[in-house]
Amino acid sequence: MKLTRMNEMILGIDLGTTNSAVGVVDSGFPILLANEDGRRITPSAVYVANDGSVEVGAMALRRRGLEPERVVTSIKRLMGRRTSEIEENFPVAVNAGPDGMPRVLGKTAEAISAEILREMKRIAEWRMGVEIRKAVITVPAYFHDGQRAATKRAGTLAGLEVVRILNEPTAAALAYGLDKLEEKARVAVYDLGGGTFDLSILEMQDGVFQVLSTCGDTRLGGDDLDALILARVMQRAGAGEIDKAARVRLTEEAERVKLALSTDEEAIFRVPFYDGSRSLEVPITRQELEKLAAPWIGKTLHLCRRALADAALKPEDLSAVVVVGGSTRMPAVRRAVTELFGREPDLSQHPDEAIALGATIQGGVMSGALRKMILLDVTPLSLGIETFGGLMNVLIPRNTTIPCKAGELFTNAADGQAAMRVRVLQGEREMAKDNWELGNFNVAFSQSAKGQARVGVQFKIDENGILEALARDVSSGIDTVIQIQSAAVNVADSAVEAMVSESVKHAFEDMAGRIFTEAKMKAEELLPAVEAVLSQGLAMDDERGEIEAAVTAVQTALANGAANPLKAAVHRLDVATEALAARLVEQAMDAALDRQLIGE
Ligand code: AMP
Repeated sequence: MKLTRMNEMILGIDLGTTNSAVGVVDSGFPILLANEDGRRITPSAVYVANDGSVEVGAMALRRRGLEPERVVTSIKRLMGRRTSEIEENFPVAVNAGPDGMPRVLGKTAEAISAEILREMKRIAEWRMGVEIRKAVITVPAYFHDGQRAATKRAGTLAGLEVVRILNEPTAAALAYGLDKLEEKARVAVYDLGGGTFDLSILEMQDGVFQVLSTCGDTRLGGDDLDALILARVMQRAGAGEIDKAARVRLTEEAERVKLALSTDEEAIFRVPFYDGSRSLEVPITRQELEKLAAPWIGKTLHLCRRALADAALKPEDLSAVVVVGGSTRMPAVRRAVTELFGREPDLSQHPDEAIALGATIQGGVMSGALRKMILLDVTPLSLGIETFGGLMNVLIPRNTTIPCKAGELFTNAADGQAAMRVRVLQGEREMAKDNWELGNFNVAFSQSAKGQARVGVQFKIDENGILEALARDVSSGIDTVIQIQSAAVNVADSAVEAMVSESVKHAFEDMAGRIFTEAKMKAEELLPAVEAVLSQGLAMDDERGEIEAAVTAVQTALANGAANPLKAAVHRLDVATEALAARLVEQAMDAALDRQLIGE
């Protein structure tokens, strides 16, 4: 008799900025597991007591009224980011650790996130009555390598083996069962949560999801709207300065009012004695809220249009639109989505549970509890290396499906060179300096004349979106490999969005920069060679004049620094010396032949 091993359960965890949720496949069905309060959603809040002990979830949130400085929320915003990159206000004090990474109440962002994950694990084990060691954890599509790696480390700290880091929109697509759509069907996933926004466009191909494009902003969410509501109420009531504890209470009330206005036409913002003596009581209508929210919603629509443009699609090309994230419960958000995409969004799932459900389905697929389904994600930004002249050489373009691999052969720029520095870059700009350096390393090779060395550079991105860069000296076969780690990722995630818009803004000057640099490198190669030939009197009289004129044109264009005139001048010099170059090659061959004959 054959024994089959029981499949090990895999948790699906949505580790959200505001809320987290956990699920597991039980008897072939993906289900989310409720905490002791009977809720399938647990606030991503961690209370750290003086003695270092912690409480997670609603209990932690309740502590905010008394000890706001000890309750950490929105920790996801700090994941994988250096302290120097954090410019926004954070709910509790953020200090730099010796490694330059932030510490909150003496703990790293990973350690705080690990507490949330440990709580998710505990809820699941308590509900299922078994120990569970593996998990799929979701992250926003815009998380860079460092943020993904930090999330994975948080899982490890929580005693979990993270079998997959899954993009949130891809998880959402799974939850909505989009795999049941017909071939070539395309769908948009609009995800507006508490702290992040993503819009992804997916396509069904041979029963497999392809992410065609993704755009997002990791600084856009329902929290912003709470702050806007509070500011408006304070302004209307003419209220002055408030302390931290009062701000917490008032922000909670702003959120409550916001939620109420998703179903009611009017609500009253009411906080008695918020600072001991003063009280606030301000009525606010849904119409007022919608006016406040309009620019905020507008930002998401702008990103939606960009994702559509990236995928070269129009709204009518889509078969379905799904919404996820708690903020999509707002009628104004749903209306805006309906209007932009020209169709009603699919509301068949709870928007705030869809991602955890999708992660659970993915976990079920990986454990064998559900049927196999392959998921493919894409790179949010292009990846490449710096080449001659400080140019960005893209190896993996933006929106490439991962996992993926790409490589190219490079050579040395100078005589006698025996090493080259490979700078791994991420971004959409033409010049290396305008992109982000993810890491760099030195590759040694045997000393070579200019253009003789052969170094192959290969980038590999695994299914978790983690990048490995490899450089091979072709003659020795020796490989140098680096994995991009979070410390090397000196990049603010808010800047991802800025990077894309910068590249659009600077498209023309960037292109001019590339044309100029390429033409300049060619000019620097051509000029000394042509001058040498001229000084040796090898040019015929009828070509000499034009060659000299072309040389002057190149020199002038170089001095002027204008891209297209330089390109034209270099081309003119190329044409002017064409016949001469051919003659010189012929003569050289004749001479070699003569030497051979003499040799015989
Ligand atoms: P998530 O990050 O998906 O858990 O979403 C949390 C965000 O959704 C928070 O900013 C909530 O205030 C917001 N949210 C949840 N329910 C509603 C609702 N009914 N109306 C408006 N916003 C909501």
